[in-house]
Amino acid sequence: MRELSEYNAKRDFGLSKEPQGLKSKKKDTAESKRKLRFVIQYHESRAKHYDLRLEHGGVLLSWAVPKGLSEKPNEYRLAVHVEDHPIEYRNFEGTIPQGEYGGGTVTIWDKGFFEYLCDMPKGLESGNIRFHLHGQKLNGVWSLVRKKGDAKTWFVVASQTEE
Ligand code: MN
Repeated sequence: MRELSEYNAKRDFGLSKEPQGLKSKKKDTAESKRKLRFVIQYHESRAKHYDLRLEHGGVLLSWAVPKGLSEKPNEYRLAVHVEDHPIEYRNFEGTIPQGEYGGGTVTIWDKGFFEYLCDMPKGLESGNIRFHLHGQKLNGVWSLVRKKGDAKTWFVVASQTEE
C-alpha cells in the first residue's frame, strides 16, 4: 500500500471540498485480477492542465499533463509526476478555493477502466509504464516514460500498435 501523507499535508480539508486521503481497508492482492480505475481531470488552475490518475497500490498514481494525452504515436507530452491521490478522487469535480493548493476548477474529462501492460511496481521503479485505457473518450495503449535522472519528469505517448 502506498501512503497519502503528502496528499493530506498539502490540503486544508476545512477549506477544500476534495476528499481526505484515507487509506482503503481493502487488501489489493487481487488488484491485477480486477478492473483498475482511471480518471483524467481537467484542472483550470493558474496553469491549466490535465491530471492523469491510474489506480495502483490502493491509491491513484498521478501526473499533471499540461497539454493532455495525444492519440498520435510519437507525440510525447510532458507529464509531471505528482503526489498519490485517494481512489475517491476519481469522482471529484468542483472548485478548490483560490489560495489553496491547486486552487481552481476540476472537471472530469474522461474516466473508465484500464489494464497495465507491464509489471507493476517494477514499471514504476524503472520509469516505464505501459497501459491500455478503456475510457469514454480515450481508448488505446499509452506509455509513461520517465526522464533519466529526474524523478518527476515523465512523458506520455500513444503506442503505435493496437493491443
Ligand atoms: Mn492538477
